[in-house]
Amino acid sequence: MQAERFKSRVPWKDGFSGNLTVFCSDERFVMATLEFLRRHLEIDRCDLMVVAGGPAFIPQNETALLERLDLLLKAHEIKQVVLIAHDDCGYYKHQHKGLSPQMLKEKQRQDLLAALEAIKAKGVQARAFFAFVDGGDIVFEEVK
Ligand SMILES: [Zn+2]
Repeated sequence: MQAERFKSRVPWKDGFSGNLTVFCSDERFVMATLEFLRRHLEIDRCDLMVVAGGPAFIPQNETALLERLDLLLKAHEIKQVVLIAHDDCGYYKHQHKGLSPQMLKEKQRQDLLAALEAIKAKGVQARAFFAFVDGGDIVFEEVK
């Protein structure tokens, strides 16, 4: 009996683009985020670090994830990092129970800016965006 197989139509391309994107695993934003990267930032290929809370682990100094981030930066010669946080993030709601939606948003903004500075301090270009829903559309706004 043969094991099930699937052959992708995506052609294999070796090498790394030097791009890395960090965002939250929340499925409600995943496809829109990939579209944003491709169509707006014109990033066709990039490494991904997709984890609950997205870039929150950077200002929180979570060693295990920071070690993996640093590994990617070095091994894949990352030159540009895109950090994306999003509205109504379950991770933030869980981590900061009792904060109003407005205070949560402010906390995320501060964390994004801290993550941005931390990446830049490693000598890598970085941009940060906040995604939110506006009238049924998912919108990405730069934070700086
Ligand atoms: Zn989230």
